[in-house]
Amino acid sequence: MEQKDDFLKEVISHAKEYGFVFPSSEIYDGLAATYDYGQLGAELKNNIKNYWWTSMVQMNENIVGLDAAIFMHPTTWKASGHVDAFNDPLIDNKDSKKRYRADVLIEEHIEKIRQKIDKEVEKGKKRFAEGFDETQFRATNPNVLRNATKITEIEDRMRETLENNDLEGVKKLIEDLEIACPVSGSKNWTEVRQFNLMFSTEMGSVAGDASTIYLRPETAQGIFVNFLNVQKSGRMKIPFGIAQIGKAFRNEIIARQFIFRMREFEQMEMQFFVRPGEEMKWYDYWKEYRLKWHKALGLGDENYRFHDHIKLAHYANAAADIEFNFPMGFKELEGIHSRTDYDLKQHEQFSGKKLQYFDPELNQNYVPYVIETSIGLDRMFLAILSASLKKEVLEDGSDRTVLKLPAALAPYKVAVMPLTKKDGLPEKARAIIDDLKFDYNCQYDEKDSPGKRYRRQDAIGTPYCVMVDHQTLEDDTVTVRDIDTMEQIRVKVSELNGVIRERVSMKTLLG
Ligand code: ATP
Repeated sequence: MEQKDDFLKEVISHAKEYGFVFPSSEIYDGLAATYDYGQLGAELKNNIKNYWWTSMVQMNENIVGLDAAIFMHPTTWKASGHVDAFNDPLIDNKDSKKRYRADVLIEEHIEKIRQKIDKEVEKGKKRFAEGFDETQFRATNPNVLRNATKITEIEDRMRETLENNDLEGVKKLIEDLEIACPVSGSKNWTEVRQFNLMFSTEMGSVAGDASTIYLRPETAQGIFVNFLNVQKSGRMKIPFGIAQIGKAFRNEIIARQFIFRMREFEQMEMQFFVRPGEEMKWYDYWKEYRLKWHKALGLGDENYRFHDHIKLAHYANAAADIEFNFPMGFKELEGIHSRTDYDLKQHEQFSGKKLQYFDPELNQNYVPYVIETSIGLDRMFLAILSASLKKEVLEDGSDRTVLKLPAALAPYKVAVMPLTKKDGLPEKARAIIDDLKFDYNCQYDEKDSPGKRYRRQDAIGTPYCVMVDHQTLEDDTVTVRDIDTMEQIRVKVSELNGVIRERVSMKTLLG
């Protein structure tokens, strides 16, 4: 589909038109970067959560769930380092008055150089055709090598300046790279400043009695402070994991690109507690496990790539992102972090309580190391929606807009339609729904021609349309139309449940 920007706009308008995502408080002209999930969005979101929970909790004997409060004792955030270090470096362009994250400006510059390398490789591919050896080309072509060295140099400087909180150095890097504001085109920048991303509020109703608390910026800390509660009450043995889905809040400097970057969003996180020294093994394990989970959706393997972090967070000794090819290009979808024993040790220190595990095999107490997998539910939603939305030209020259969602995630699994509104067909259609509705979310639709009704279901990703016609009354069969092939087969009503199950069960994805 067309240009990338236009495509994102199309995704946004499709999401609104069919009830997936609305701007929040729209009647008051909305609230910046805040969105509400509509009737179909809520279903899709629930199904994504379910897909994650099934794969992480249900399918892993040694992983259990948790649902911690959003509010936490304020010391939690002192201990975790968020009060002092959960900052983004911001910079303003004096001409456009636009605000940017300094590290993002530099990352985008690096991405442009990377694209130059890719172009050079493409040229090489064309020139050498069959005999092309990409690895050798990348290792020897002078243009590729020059640009690769440039990237390394920039990454090194960026890491060094950010890690040392050298904000002047960050600004100097932006100036040296001659990065211009995408809006004004000027290089007239302010100083770089640090900005804390946590939202704070007051708890308590009595004036003077209130204390400042924070809206959690990640769900992970709810897991850390409950580590011993879960371990003891669930008799968990290391290695084991705790998984959680919930809201998180960040006062992002620039929140844009639809639901990709919001100030209120939802995370699906899992902390996996391991023996010290075994963390790299588990880090590799979870990287692979998570990538497999993504690829199983069938959105295209070429749409995923790993990106190792240049600047490690204050708690991590290794970190990688799984990036997805969003309408805006490759961007972070999920993070896999080796968080060491940083968080538990910090909580031990600040709470004065021991957060240790007795390992019966080693006959030893220790603070476990942690591997975290952390994915944004809203980003996952956008990845799925944008990769599924297609415009197809049909054999007769007409076109259709179709949402090729993974069937297990579709808001409705089946639409049941009477061919006409009379002769007892609506009653029969309703009876079929009454039978299926315990297992699947079904929709009844009797309005307009069958063609129009099929198009409506195509646009919302319903894998199956069931048509009840006069023959149904005679032999208890219906036609079942497949969203992908648009082919119809005749099926006995008694076999309908099985036909649907085969296509929409989580087992087809995870089995
Ligand atoms: P970014 O670099 O894009 O700001 P991050 O590295 O700060 O993201 P993490 O702290 O690793 O993100 O959070 C884990 C996941 O939570 C991310 O991979 C992303 O999917 C999601 N996430 C983080 N911030 C937001 C946001 N503002 N809106 C929506 N999802 C978010």
